Amino acid sequence: MADTHPTYLWWNGEQVRWEDATVHVTDLAWSTVGAVFEGIRGYWNEEQQELYVFRLQDHLDRLMDSMRLVRLPTTYSAEDLLAATLTLIRDNESREDTYIRPLAYSAGTSGKRLSDAPADAALLINTNPMPSKLSSGETMKVKVSSWTRISDNVMPPRIKNISNYRNGQLASMEAKADGYDGAILLSPQGKVSEAPGACVMIVRHGKLLTPPVTDGILESITRDAVMTMARESLGLDVVERSLDRTELYLADEVFLCGTAFEISPIVEVDRYQIGDGAIGDVTGRLQTLFESVLRGTEDRYASWRTPVGVAAGVTAD
Ligand code: PMP
Repeated sequence: MADTHPTYLWWNGEQVRWEDATVHVTDLAWSTVGAVFEGIRGYWNEEQQELYVFRLQDHLDRLMDSMRLVRLPTTYSAEDLLAATLTLIRDNESREDTYIRPLAYSAGTSGKRLSDAPADAALLINTNPMPSKLSSGETMKVKVSSWTRISDNVMPPRIKNISNYRNGQLASMEAKADGYDGAILLSPQGKVSEAPGACVMIVRHGKLLTPPVTDGILESITRDAVMTMARESLGLDVVERSLDRTELYLADEVFLCGTAFEISPIVEVDRYQIGDGAIGDVTGRLQTLFESVLRGTEDRYASWRTPVGVAAGVTAD
């Protein structure tokens, strides 16, 4: 067990040993209903012996937005959390691709009502190894879910509220039970929204198309990065507009993008073959570029990378 988790996590301002980070069982009650979180990744550069965290400031700014929307007060700033994250990764000596998950929740909810104003948020940052699949050649076959995506006036999908994830979980479970690898959800208006945990992009008539942030999607950081790289580095027209379900079936390429999914090619939607049933040209080029950007094996988009300083001899500030 000891080697399957890092030595420390960060909890309410202190670095705590993994084994010592426990809560009372009664805290389970309402504590995660209003909890919000982030999913962030660091990529190991073997040659430089360095871990680069992707768009760390943007992720922590979004965490602050999420907390504001669920009215969870905190005394920590994004800057405090940024410094804590870097120290934690250095002290855990993470020399591999790493997932970083900050979580803000309302502690001590036992005996309280859900309508009671939350106290200052409890904040946790934990990490675990998560190798990249960008060069694995893996592809997905998905279905359009019979579940509808939550909407801004139901449970705002633009933030990372734990409760929102029940919607995507139902869609994923249905898709797996039906023999697919994943799902794509439609909005209440019947437009393509997003997948559980990832945004949807298609290539059609030489353009990259993706649903707008008003069609029930998370304000995804990977989506923004992919649109920027497609425009600037691949010279593609990138269009944000509502997409019909049948545009998925007729697309030349379909892929998912997100922190966990990176860029994941889709080769079938509802048993319609996409393109020639293999990873498409644009998708493949974006995967290759994205991996080198994430690992810092090239100079482009350097401002997206925060070096952790895990190399021997570098110590926490
Ligand atoms: N949509 C949902 C529902 C997600 O959970 C995620 C993963 N955070 C994404 C999209 C992709 O967002 P990002 O690129 O910021 O990870």
